[in-house]
Amino acid sequence: MSDCIKDLIQNMNLVIGCTVGCPYCYARNNVRRFHTIDDFSQPEFFPGKLRLMDKERPQNFLLTGMSDLSGWKEAWREEVFEAIRRHPQHQFLFLTKRPDLLDIHTDLENAWFGVTVTGKADLWRIDALREHVRGAHYHVTFEPLFDNPGAVNLENIDWIVVGTMTGAMSRKVHTEPEWALSLTRQAHQHHIPVFWKEDLVPVMGEEQMVQELPEAFNNVLEAQKTWNSRK
Ligand code: SF4
Repeated sequence: MSDCIKDLIQNMNLVIGCTVGCPYCYARNNVRRFHTIDDFSQPEFFPGKLRLMDKERPQNFLLTGMSDLSGWKEAWREEVFEAIRRHPQHQFLFLTKRPDLLDIHTDLENAWFGVTVTGKADLWRIDALREHVRGAHYHVTFEPLFDNPGAVNLENIDWIVVGTMTGAMSRKVHTEPEWALSLTRQAHQHHIPVFWKEDLVPVMGEEQMVQELPEAFNNVLEAQKTWNSRK
């Protein structure tokens, strides 16, 4: 049975709001529906949520589930990076679609910087990530895919995720099996773990599903099991 990625990596929405403006953005719809903030195009920082890091039990966290790292103010980023440094028991993931707007240099071992690629025209983001973010770990999420990304330069990439469009637009746009298989072959040639999101089950079939995690994330999940059995 395939895992839901949200059970393995939890959202911690320290910033809500985004200036990128993707037409398919589920976060913007949620904010409108629940009126979490006044204006989704004006990101807001919720530093009170940083205390979620204080739990000793290790966790994998996605910090940009309702934002894009490029829209974070530098002061917010510095405060979050300091908190990450104080909590080496957790792993932290960031995603952006505008790596060209970033200028980050960090030695944080438990911070993972990634870009979203939705097709061939977005491949520049992977180069821009390597150029504008000097960090310990890089990842790429191919989701949603509008066309076949083709040959991808995966040098120094530590993890890739492949998904498909969900929601109302999924009837018109979806990841073709060959695209997912091609990305997986390319990653495996470089010994890069690959994770197909659970939304790919209807496309790929349960038996074919590939759900690999970087060792650091697996270590967190293993520690959680021991932790649970100790309680
Ligand atoms: S980058 Fe992410 S949060 Fe921002 S508009 Fe696009 S989907 Fe929404």
